[in-house]
Amino acid sequence: MAELNAFQNALAQFDKAVAHLNLERGIVELLRHPKRELTVNFPVKMDGGDIRIFTGFRVHHSTALGATKGGIRFHQDVTLDEMRALAMWMTWKCSLMGLPYGGAKGGVVVDPRTLSMRELEALTRRYATEISLLMNPQGDVPAPDVGTTGQIMAWIMDTYSMHLGYSMPAVVTGKPVEIGGSLGRNEATGRGVIYAVREAMKHLNLPFEGATVAVQGFGNVGSISARTAHETGMKVVAVTDVTGGAYNPKGLDLPALIQHATATRSVAGFPGADTITNEELLALKVDVLIPAALENQITSGNADKVQCKVLAEGANGPTTPEADDLLNAKGVFIIPDILCNGGGVVVSYLEWVQDLQAFFWEEEEISRHLERHVTKAFRRVVAEAEKRRIDNRTAAQVLAIQRVAEVTLIRGIYP
Ligand code: NAD
Repeated sequence: MAELNAFQNALAQFDKAVAHLNLERGIVELLRHPKRELTVNFPVKMDGGDIRIFTGFRVHHSTALGATKGGIRFHQDVTLDEMRALAMWMTWKCSLMGLPYGGAKGGVVVDPRTLSMRELEALTRRYATEISLLMNPQGDVPAPDVGTTGQIMAWIMDTYSMHLGYSMPAVVTGKPVEIGGSLGRNEATGRGVIYAVREAMKHLNLPFEGATVAVQGFGNVGSISARTAHETGMKVVAVTDVTGGAYNPKGLDLPALIQHATATRSVAGFPGADTITNEELLALKVDVLIPAALENQITSGNADKVQCKVLAEGANGPTTPEADDLLNAKGVFIIPDILCNGGGVVVSYLEWVQDLQAFFWEEEEISRHLERHVTKAFRRVVAEAEKRRIDNRTAAQVLAIQRVAEVTLIRGIYP
């Protein structure tokens, strides 16, 4: 279905935003195209002794603002078009957050849950070697995304360093703190989501304390968003993951739920809660809905059922352009992905800076930067939306695209 092609959706959002900017046709065309795309097919020796071939990608959308930044996804549905969309969104996110980075994304077509730890390590190290044509600390710095973890980042850092002959922590972010990761990086995306929600509630004159929250996805972004919401006085009533869901209108006991999810690798079967499906969660009458799983969760097929006041996009691309129109018409306040989950790349940037200078900061300093970046970007987006009378997503993209276009013109078209 055309509505579910993430790259077509990213281009539709881009076209909608550039209509508000007076850009030369050639610059628009340049920014519509990813700069470079690498596809790799590589072998991994499985535990049974057989050799399996995997396909992976690394896409750089733009290098205008600096080194490219973007996560690595291990998921069975990864496609080149999905990587293109996610890389483009990374360009706009880094631009909006005021970072000196372009956008990238990488991924491997694999369900990591089907691999043993040894197979996962072998796949990661071989993929890292294959994309080292593009990956380096000055040029392209990956990070975790769906299906990848701090441990996987550690293997990527170690693999790159082994080839180099010395340690190069700055080649990847989201690493464990012990090997050059940053304090607060693991929590950054989810905390940033809740900072953005707090600003939205203030802006809309809605109470933050006691506001009801539903979260789709309980991985890095979903679980930390839910935990932070709970810790800061909101009431998390429902969460789902790929295995099922937990719902309690009186509020879920988040610390106990996290324990349960860690022990069983699933939120399903949590005692003290009813079950709930994804479709039901997205249709809950809550103050804040946080999709934190994958793209295309809110579409023209279910947008009419969405009843939240604030849609806080923890995930990238959870809302299709068709659904956007329906939600905006209903008056749902959307905190668009490139703003809402931008806290992750802000702290990735801080991790990279710390690695490059080999000098590490206290967590309070990191938290202060994170909060300042997210709050400032939120205020700029809302002001731009009001000034131009446009929706928040378009406003965020207008600001982001404008900066990349300006920098492109200042640098000039080579040769
Ligand atoms: P993750 O792999 O840690 O977690 C993904 C979660 O989504 C898991 O709980 C999984 O069970 C759930 N999920 C998968 N398919 C689902 C489905 N059909 N229905 C319900 N739940 C489903 O991934 P993550 O890093 O938390 O990333 C989640 C989203 O946030 C992605 O869109 C990613 O691009 C975006 N994001 C991540 C970061 C980061 O720092 N990790 C930063 C910015 C944006």
